[in-house]
Amino acid sequence: MALIVQKFGGTSVGNPERILNVARRVIETQSQGNQVVVVVSAMSGVTDNLIKLARDVSPNPSEREMDVLLATGEQTTIALTAMAIAGLGKKAVSLTGAQAGIVTSETHTKAKIATISPERVLEALEEGNIVIIAGFQGETAEGSITTLGRGGSDLTAIAISAAIKADLCQIFTDVDGVYTCDPRIVKNASKIQEISYDEMLEMASSGSKVMQSRSVEFAKKFGVTFEVRSSFNYNPGTIVKEETESMEAVVVRGVSIEKNQAKVTISHVPDKPGTAARIFTTLATSGVIIDMIVQNVSVEGSTDISFTLSKDELPKAKAALEPVVKEVGASALHSQDGIAKLSIVGIGMRSHSGVAAKLFESLSAGSINIQMISTSEIKTAVIIEEGRIAEAANLVHEAFHLGQASA
Ligand code: ASP
Ligand code: MG
Repeated sequence: MALIVQKFGGTSVGNPERILNVARRVIETQSQGNQVVVVVSAMSGVTDNLIKLARDVSPNPSEREMDVLLATGEQTTIALTAMAIAGLGKKAVSLTGAQAGIVTSETHTKAKIATISPERVLEALEEGNIVIIAGFQGETAEGSITTLGRGGSDLTAIAISAAIKADLCQIFTDVDGVYTCDPRIVKNASKIQEISYDEMLEMASSGSKVMQSRSVEFAKKFGVTFEVRSSFNYNPGTIVKEETESMEAVVVRGVSIEKNQAKVTISHVPDKPGTAARIFTTLATSGVIIDMIVQNVSVEGSTDISFTLSKDELPKAKAALEPVVKEVGASALHSQDGIAKLSIVGIGMRSHSGVAAKLFESLSAGSINIQMISTSEIKTAVIIEEGRIAEAANLVHEAFHLGQASA
């Protein structure tokens, strides 16, 4: 007998019929001889609607009250799921985050999980129940309701799995798993069978977001192996786990793309201590999130600094930087949008050579110009013209043979 945590996202519980499907599915898991804990999100659209309602009654609702409000979304789903299971003749009990023993920090609307005391969950399981826990919520040590940040039900599932030492944690969603590239762009993209936490995190941060990154970080920290799979079919999904030696044999796990990027270049920045700090502190104070940064070697006492950011942030960045460009004595600020980032990700890059060369060659074969390059231990990323991103993704995907086998 195994102890299994199954998490269902908003789309998977989006209407009564889907809730009944979830009920049947978890009953099936139980009837195979397992104990089942179910974590659910709010029905799709519900959290957004609640946020809208709050804004309709107040321009600036308090975060404490926001949490009281938002927690009702998941509370609705746990009750309905428990009723659906009971209606199908099996024992089920719903628990709020607090009742499941999830204690969080006091940071309303983005609380961190501090501890979990899952006694009540375990007791309910022992009594033969399927236990349904509300995702995305907990309570402070003083007993105020908190929420864990948007997408936080994933975190609940991972954290509960760690706390009850589940044998298996399954994240059911509306996609089949993690793919070698977006299948809408690369037709023969294949499902990845196994991926390491670090690769999953790199892919998420470079555009292939399947799950909230915080949940993946939490899983890594506590060694929770989990599977991302679809609630609409029975196909096996993608296993996300600690890296193994055999994983390194694959050089590139996947290709991520991110559109809507922009780049800013500040030219002839005087090469002296403090200028980069001045530029990036200004951006940080304005709340602009920066991605790649490239500084050239200085020639005759000055250098060029370029960075990329989301296109939406460009006006804010330019407004903040214009006075600074003059102040530090740089000559000009150039900006450009219409660019995109393509990244290849894989832990195998640590132990293989020629990976970047192969990436550049495949782009050159398509006469695609590389505007910027950046690397990390397990990622190589390039900035190219946005209009050519689909072509580039296909070329690179092909060059690394990601279409067929990708264990
Ligand atoms: N209902 C919350 C949200 O929409 C949490 C979740 O779905 O994971 O962000
Ligand atoms: Mg959600």
